[in-house]
Amino acid sequence: MADTNVTDKVSPILDVDKIRQDFPVLSKTIHGKPLIYLDNGATTQKPWAVINRVKEFDSDEYGTVRRGAYKLCEDSTKYYEETRQKVADLLGTPNKNEIVFTSGTTQSINLVAHSFSRRFINEGDEIIISNIEHHANTVPWQIVCQERGAKLKVIPVSDSGELIMEEYEKLLSDKTRIVAVNHVSNALGTVNPVREITEKAHAIGAKVLIDGAQSTPHLKLNVKELDCDFYTFSGHKMYGPSGIGGLYGRMELLEEMPPYVTGGDMIMQVTLEKTTYAKPPAKFEAGTPPISQVVGLGAAIDYITNIGLDKIFDYELELLEYGTEVLKQVPGLRIIGNAKDKASIISFYHDSVHPHDIVTLMDQEGIELRGGHHCAQPTMIRFGVPATARASMSFYNKKEELDALAEAMKKAVKMFEG
Ligand code: PMP
Repeated sequence: MADTNVTDKVSPILDVDKIRQDFPVLSKTIHGKPLIYLDNGATTQKPWAVINRVKEFDSDEYGTVRRGAYKLCEDSTKYYEETRQKVADLLGTPNKNEIVFTSGTTQSINLVAHSFSRRFINEGDEIIISNIEHHANTVPWQIVCQERGAKLKVIPVSDSGELIMEEYEKLLSDKTRIVAVNHVSNALGTVNPVREITEKAHAIGAKVLIDGAQSTPHLKLNVKELDCDFYTFSGHKMYGPSGIGGLYGRMELLEEMPPYVTGGDMIMQVTLEKTTYAKPPAKFEAGTPPISQVVGLGAAIDYITNIGLDKIFDYELELLEYGTEVLKQVPGLRIIGNAKDKASIISFYHDSVHPHDIVTLMDQEGIELRGGHHCAQPTMIRFGVPATARASMSFYNKKEELDALAEAMKKAVKMFEG
């Protein structure tokens, strides 16, 4: 655990003061207090590199993609495809056509759930998720089960917030068609053993989708080493624009799966009688995409890869350990989710101060936190709490900010307990 001594507050891993200058919002004040932004699990702030690249593209270079053979269109198409290559490099696939742009993780999971199920899921088949999934990785599978007559099975979770792997193994059977779990839980911060989950699913012939919404900003990834079949991400959680994200899909599967959204750009040929489809990824990218957002995503990937995901992970782990330690010193505060492997997310609960009150009181101190069920109501039910407050850290956060949170929490507890 990190020492809470003042001399320890400057990390040797990253020059955080310098990094903070890249993010204009971080120098703002909220209610007259310096902003302490700790809701990075919901969405991250943008560096100048992203803001300026989108502005430059929109002012000087904007055109549609894939259609006309004129300069603006050719250049936009080039930038669009360059970002696809950057995503492929970030996720570790040598084939950039295995990357489909979507509006984000929610759409990526819906794409897989509905398209994969139409081709591969039939009555009596089984789908496995876990008890610590975001609703985006729960509701689509429930709908698929209703529509296809399949059954949803759920991996239980231990009191510390870890998936119970022996129970997972018992759920796997020759009826299992797909296992869909997150890499990092947004509600608890647990890092799931996705390599092992994939290996066990593949051993019985099932496919695996990994919801990477919370892992792509923090972990160095390689989908080929993980050997998963699908991996999803959201641009706005990795310092890029909102409205853009994507899906890695194994090419053989993308080729076999039917289109999800249909219309322009996803076709090979259309007659009034019949349509043939374009090859992936175009088959899954119907309509005019969010072009500026894709360009901004490319700038965000450049930004984080320049810092280095190894360094980001190590520094954020330092923040996690430090934050855990200082928050534990708040009387009565309970951390929900104490897995051995965690990303920089701390969910907590206090019997005397409701999470919504915590968020309001922290906001008065300039500290922006999330309070609620985090779109993970089954997780809240499992841990017997209506909601939690959540501090989710980024590499631009500082230990002093976590001290400020712990102090403000002590003040709030005193106020409520009298
Ligand atoms: N899965 C997880 C684990 C998440 O944290 C989120 C966002 N909170 C989502 C899925 C949904 O992502 P988006 O809203 O970007 O589609």
